[in-house]
Amino acid sequence: MLKIQATVCFTRGIVIGPAYVVPEKIKEKPVVNSSHIIDQSVEKARFERAVEEVSQDLEKLALEHDVFAAHLAIVQDPTLSEEVEAHIEAGKTAEASVDETIEGLKLVFQMMDNAYMRERADDIEDIGNRLMAALQQKSLRRFPGLSVPSVIVARDLFPSDTANLDASLVLGFITAEGGVSSHVAIMAKNRGIPALIGVPEIVSSVQTGDLIAFDAETGEICIHPDEAVKADFFERAKALKEKEGALLARASEPVISRDGKTLRVYCNIGSLEELNASMAYSPDGVGLFRSEFLFMDSDHFPTEEEQFIAYREASEKIGKEITIRTLDIGGDKELNYFSFDHEENPFLGWRAIRMTLDMPDLFCTQLRAILRASAYGPMRIMFPMITSLYEFERAKALTEACKASLKDEGTAFDDHIPLGIMVETPAAVFMADELAKAVDFFSIGTNDLTQYILAVDRGNEKIKHMFNAFHPAVIRAIARVIEAAHEADIEVGMCGEMAGDLRATEILLGLGLDEFSMSAQMTPDVKEKIRSLDVSKAAEKAMKVLAMSDVDEIEAYLSLNSGSDTIID
Ligand code: PEP
Ligand code: MG
Repeated sequence: MLKIQATVCFTRGIVIGPAYVVPEKIKEKPVVNSSHIIDQSVEKARFERAVEEVSQDLEKLALEHDVFAAHLAIVQDPTLSEEVEAHIEAGKTAEASVDETIEGLKLVFQMMDNAYMRERADDIEDIGNRLMAALQQKSLRRFPGLSVPSVIVARDLFPSDTANLDASLVLGFITAEGGVSSHVAIMAKNRGIPALIGVPEIVSSVQTGDLIAFDAETGEICIHPDEAVKADFFERAKALKEKEGALLARASEPVISRDGKTLRVYCNIGSLEELNASMAYSPDGVGLFRSEFLFMDSDHFPTEEEQFIAYREASEKIGKEITIRTLDIGGDKELNYFSFDHEENPFLGWRAIRMTLDMPDLFCTQLRAILRASAYGPMRIMFPMITSLYEFERAKALTEACKASLKDEGTAFDDHIPLGIMVETPAAVFMADELAKAVDFFSIGTNDLTQYILAVDRGNEKIKHMFNAFHPAVIRAIARVIEAAHEADIEVGMCGEMAGDLRATEILLGLGLDEFSMSAQMTPDVKEKIRSLDVSKAAEKAMKVLAMSDVDEIEAYLSLNSGSDTIID
């Protein structure tokens, strides 16, 4: 029996079954055809045919996954063809030309500072594999012999692998490489597939057919589990299934605390696909639609019409309130069709509302799209990274101008659409009382708020132990924001990760939070937790926590006080 501990956990599920190790691609390096003079026109025609064939496949796949629309755009990008053709003109075969072009492009992505963009190198490799398979008339099938439900083990998985995989044959997957923001990780989360990524030793430790058990939530992996471990995993899997089933059965019931306060438990999404997957959990609405993913999965700034269709579809699909956050790009997120200047401190730089206020045409395109979609269902607009009343007022003025133009055109929209802000900067915390008088709602973004209050980069591995939303400074900031909101008679939600952390539920309830928004998978748990709690008792505990000055003390207190009292009756 061999035990391995994974450190990156981002899904939930307990899996036990045979491993299927994806055969390593032995890359046949295409060489320049030196035995005879190549016919450039033949090679160019072969390449064009390959592009056509791959485009047809990607068009079909794009109907289900946005990522393939981005792949399609790259395949059809004239700069890609121009570069491949230049290599052919230099005397190389179509295969060698594609290979060199793809390798060069991959390198560009791999050298980028930003983790999200570095992970796009996988997408480029995926596209290269497709083109190569089309050129060589080979099948892209990467899973020969996979016929029974298995734990897929691979060095890395590409987006097309996860799209092509027959879901009924996948119990879960473990990869040696990849980061949490890779498309593969995002797809695993969306589809609710238990997965562990970044486990370097996995490929050398397991062979196809070996029995493997893993817990995606704790990161425990066991290869050749003995009878006792097997029994333990089966027991845990059964208990988790029963718990999830019971929670799901009650997910659509109202969320009312024991002493009668009604709360909203919303979900966070980044795309329509994510919304589709979220629907199974019956969220009460969408508390955060990270609209930047529409922009990141495109090869151009999405037009008003493209955005309008996406927002309207989301609204019609869920039939409940949707909160669209305006473009929050910059910081750790970039666009491959727009170049940002190099910045020493991108998280403190030109991102989110700062960028959109500087680009009013871009901003108004999005605002008009949201306003138009608001005619089809309840919608809210939320501005990110606000640090002053002035920024909100400028954003509001642009919204009003868009409303006026829509009115002139006779286009329908909700004239009372609520305008709110993310409270995610220390400045917004200190200005919360004045901001609360101007806006319609607050949503606390604990991911950024924690990074800015504690001066801890949220993406820096070296200091990740210091990134903790339970730090007393963050808790006190949250308390201050909720109090300011309620004094001004507006509601306050939370859409940072803390909202989905069950250890935090009771104190957030006690501090007076009105709305919790998180990844959909967590919503049934948080709903049930709230139903088991008393707001008045929670308020007493929140007061105790507010008096604590040490993060360890707070975490120890909350661990003792959470979890055990989730009652399903
Ligand atoms: C946050 O900062 O808490 C938040 C929800 O926004 P994002 O994670 O997209 O920055
Ligand atoms: Mg944020």
